[in-house]
Formats: sequence, structure tokens, C-alpha cells
Amino acid sequence: MEIKKKNFEVLHNGSINKSVGFTKKEREALGLRGLLPYSIASIEIQVKRVMSGIRRKAYDIERYILLSSLQDRNEKLFYKVTIDHIEEIMPLIYTPTVGQACKEFSHIFRRSKGFYITPEDRGDISTILNNWPENDIRIIVITDGQRILGLGDLGANGMGIPIGKLALYTACAGILPHQCLPVMLDVGTNNEEILNDEMYLGYPHKRLQGEDYFSLVEEFVQAIQKKYPKALIQFEDFLTPNAYKLLHNYKDKILCFNDDIQGTAAVALSGVYASTRLTKLKFSDLRIMFLGAGSAATGIADLMVAAFQSEGLTEDEARKRLWFVDIDGLVVSSRTNLMPHNLPYAHDANQLNFIEAIDTIQPHVLIGATGAPGTFTETVVKHMCAINEKPVIFALSNPTSRAECTAEQAYQWSDGKAIFASGSPFGKVIYKNKVFYPGQGNNAYVFPGIGLGCIIAEAKIIPDDLFLTAAKTLANLVDENNLTEGALYPKLTQIRMLSLEIATAVAEKAYELKITKNEKPDNLKQIIKAYMYDPCY
Ligand code: NAD
Repeated sequence: MEIKKKNFEVLHNGSINKSVGFTKKEREALGLRGLLPYSIASIEIQVKRVMSGIRRKAYDIERYILLSSLQDRNEKLFYKVTIDHIEEIMPLIYTPTVGQACKEFSHIFRRSKGFYITPEDRGDISTILNNWPENDIRIIVITDGQRILGLGDLGANGMGIPIGKLALYTACAGILPHQCLPVMLDVGTNNEEILNDEMYLGYPHKRLQGEDYFSLVEEFVQAIQKKYPKALIQFEDFLTPNAYKLLHNYKDKILCFNDDIQGTAAVALSGVYASTRLTKLKFSDLRIMFLGAGSAATGIADLMVAAFQSEGLTEDEARKRLWFVDIDGLVVSSRTNLMPHNLPYAHDANQLNFIEAIDTIQPHVLIGATGAPGTFTETVVKHMCAINEKPVIFALSNPTSRAECTAEQAYQWSDGKAIFASGSPFGKVIYKNKVFYPGQGNNAYVFPGIGLGCIIAEAKIIPDDLFLTAAKTLANLVDENNLTEGALYPKLTQIRMLSLEIATAVAEKAYELKITKNEKPDNLKQIIKAYMYDPCY
């Protein structure tokens, strides 16, 4: 960005401030002489200073606050720190620390980042959107705070999620920071503890529900279509039934997706694709069982139906490969307590408990998305081993403390045979002298690249095919070294390259499907690469 402002204003504008990184010439031109210490620091030295400050802090929440202030003060430095130390910083600006940050949001609040809508704004959303200073927003992440990670209803405190997700869009895929917009649809909260907190910053009422709720979302969507017609809307951390309803309402009409459902699906599918290189099984032969039948598990299954269909199975055949067990046991057609999204997977079978279901259905792959820790017991892992030479076991629940089993348990209980991946990061495990590096099915592998591809191609919608493309592309980027170490995903340190590859493949597919507003350029990959924000001075 061209620097036009002067003096103090420059030092207090996070998008242009370089602080002690300003050169002698810039200090002269901008009237900064005397306002900074003598030494001119390279961005690399500034990164070192920030990292030593981060490492000195006693708690992750303090590290989060430090990084959040840095983002306000010197945006480029914040992103340089995040990109150069992605494995260390991602868990601080996103899960798991962001969960704590959301819980304490009203207490640690400093400077507002993002846009808030409450029921009092009904009828005015278009007008107040003009208060946002940017004209070319491309990615919006919106939540209503009702199901923040595994933490439940946090009301407006959930704003930490859109802020964190958009920071990842920029760090991982180079989406320009000023083209990102975090949005809190603050329709109240049913969390009494929050409502009774005198510091709570949100709309202090019970949640808006039903038609009043959906019509407010509709007004927001309309306002965005008018002011930012090229923007992608990512729905995030909505309560499962609302998440499905919103996705159903908008997925075929506007450029939008739900990361909890579709992003999770793409990253899990990618892991399953990669696992077949170790098990030597054909993807189209797999039987897959889910523990948990909520938005994450059902989203994965829905995309797997598309994946099986792309291998020649009919929709019906595909669904028969996918089985669910929830808190009440196997999901079967005779059950009367199922949600609409469970019905396509409620097969005609006997009602069985989890272990009986494993023994009867004999899945090759077991995927946990329950939020219930410890549900993959030793017995479960042993029964998976009894029917598989190399059982594939994904414990996707976040945060780490909610994982269905730990990496260590999976390797120990399976005597090193399990192919394991998790939702939250686990460190390396040494079992019988072999070192395992369990892969993390982190949504950040896919959503930034999908978003980047879609905005470059100016896609009008995001059909399943684009998620399928992202999953296949990511799986193909897993190299033999990753697999030898037991990792089903590439290293996060490669995320910018991975996002570029995914974005290119997704944009290619969007052009092929003729769902774009612009024509495919000859040098698509170079165009995407050139767009990507690179935080250097
Ligand atoms: P949800 O509330 O929609 O669904 C939870 C499901 O788990 C329900 O079907 C419930 O019946 C079932 N369940 C709960 N306890 C159970 C038990 N003891 N035994 C069997 N089933 C049980 O939640 P969701 O949005 O689907 O998310 C579930 C988990 O997946 C969360 O912990 C979330 O953090 C995680 N998740 C991970 C990723 C990722 O790794 N990339 C992405 C999204 C969500």
C-alpha cells in the first residue's frame, strides 16, 4: 500500500506501520525523525524480537493477546511472524487457544476488528455496511457464536473465530488483509453465565430464533450481494440444524460454504485418500464408519458419497458404504430420534451398539467426530485390528482434550498398526523404536486454498466438485516421506505452496464447470501466485 500519511499517524496505522523497520529515507520523507530509536531493523530481526516476546509469556492466552495487538500495530510483521512460524503460531491464533480467547473475549477486548450485526440493525444492514471502510471485500467469515468449537454458545464472544479464520486465510493463502471481513451476527445468547457477566459486550438478550433469525441472515446476505458481489461468505460455527438450513438455503445461489461441514469433509476425505497408499486398498472398496452423527461427520459422509460416485458407484451404493454410530448406537432406519441429515444414512439393519457395529459391518476406516473424549477405547482399537491389517483411525474431535483417543493410545493399542490422524495436533510418538508423526486433519489445509481459487476465478457457487478437487489435490501432495512417518498430510510449513496448488486446481475446476464470472486466463497459476499477499517491506 502506498504510504501517504505522515508522522504519528503512520506509526499508528497497522496496515502501513513498519515501526523500526522504516528506512532512513522513509523516516525523512514521512517526518519520522526523532520518533523512532536510531537503529533500523530488518523484518527478520523484528520477527526474532516478537518470537522471543511470545516465548517469554507464561500462558498461551497471553501469547494470543500479544499477537492480536501486533496485528493492530504492524500487520505485515504479524503475518511475517505467522507465516515463518506457522506450526507454533497457528495453535495460538486459532484452535486451541482461540477457544480460550473467545471465552474471555469480553474481558480481553482491546480494539474492535470486524463487523457486528444485531436484531436492532434490522432494516439498516445495507446502510451500516457502508461504515466499513473497504470497497473490495472478497472473503467474509460469519458466525452467530452458537456453537464455538466444542465450547457451545458463546454469543458475541465468538467473534474470535471469524478474526482467527481470516488471519489464516491471509497467512496460508495470501488473501489480502483488507479484502477480509470478520462478521458477528450477534442475535443474543442463551448462555446464562455470559448474560450475567457485567463485562459482556454482546447483545444481552436471549437468542433470536425461527423466522426472525433466518430473515435477519437473509437481509445480511442481500446487503453483501449488493455491496460486495464478489465476496465469498464462509459460515462458521453455527448450531448444526441452523448450519444445514443456511447451507441448504444458499449453497446453490451464492458463493458460500460452511467450513465445519464442507471444509472438514475435504480434509478428512483427503486423509482417507492418502491412507489407501499405505493400506493398498482401493478407495472404491472402502467401508467407513463414523462415531458421531453431527455436522462434521455428516459433512464428511456427504462428500464421500460424491467421491464414491466419481469412482463409478451409484448414490445408493455409495451411501451403503457409510455407517454412523451416535450416542444411541448404530443409526438405522427403525430409529425414531434421527435428524433430517441422518436419514439418508439410516440403513435397514439391526440396532447395534458401537462394538457390535464394528464387528458386523467391518469398517476399514473409523472416523470420530463426537466431541466426546475417550470414546475410542482399547477394545474399539483392538476390534478394528482384528478385522484390518492396518486400521485407519481418525480422532477428529477438538480441542486435543476431546479427541476420541490420543495418538499414543492408537499406536500402542494397535501394536503400531493403526494409521492415525487427529483434529488437533499430537506430537510425535515413539513406539517399539519406530517414530510416528501423526497427521493433523486441520481444515487450514484446504479452506484457504479453496477460497483463493474461488475468488480468483470469481466463482458464482461452490459445488461439491470443488471440495472433491481440493481433497484429491491435497492427497496427491502427501509425499512418501510423510507416509513413511505415518503422516497422512504434508507438513504445515508447506502451507503456502499447498494453498497455491489447491487454489489453482479449484479455479481450474470452476472454469471447467462454467460457474465463473470471468474467463480462464492462460497463466492461471502465475496469476494466483502474483495475487498472494507477501508480507515484506
Ligand atoms: P455436533 O454436535 O453436530 O455432533 C456431535 C455428534 O456426536 C452427535 O451426533 C452426537 O450424538 C454424537 N456423540 C456425542 N457424544 C457421543 C458419544 N459418547 N458416543 C457416540 N456419539 C456421540 O458436532 P460437530 O459439529 O459434528 O463436531 C463434532 C466434533 O468434531 C467436535 O469436537 C469438533 O471439534 C470436531 N471437528 C473437527 C474438525 C477437524 O478436525 N478438522 C472439523 C470440524 C469439527
